[in-house]
Amino acid sequence: MSDPFTGQLSAFLDGELDHLARARLETHLGECLDCTRLLADLRAIVAAAPHYQGREPARDLWQDIERRLDEADVVPITPPRPRVPASPRRDLGRVLSLEQ
Ligand SMILES: [Zn+2]
Repeated sequence: MSDPFTGQLSAFLDGELDHLARARLETHLGECLDCTRLLADLRAIVAAAPHYQGREPARDLWQDIERRLDEADVVPITPPRPRVPASPRRDLGRVLSLEQ
């Protein structure tokens, strides 16, 4: 069975839990090593995130992508003919001709 407190850890860290939920989670953290470790991991991620510089790709992938696009079999697609909506004017004309 999954731990119902696991999903609250991020909100706890962000100060988004109300007083009662926060108190329950703090009590739980005193008893649950998994949540305590996960909370420590989340805190480490939050602390490191502002310093993450990203990473440049090892090589430019666009040329390979462009070549594959050129090689791909292209199947022409004929769009379906649009349905012609009924013309109220034509219908009105038909009704009027019947009334005469
Ligand atoms: Zn737990």
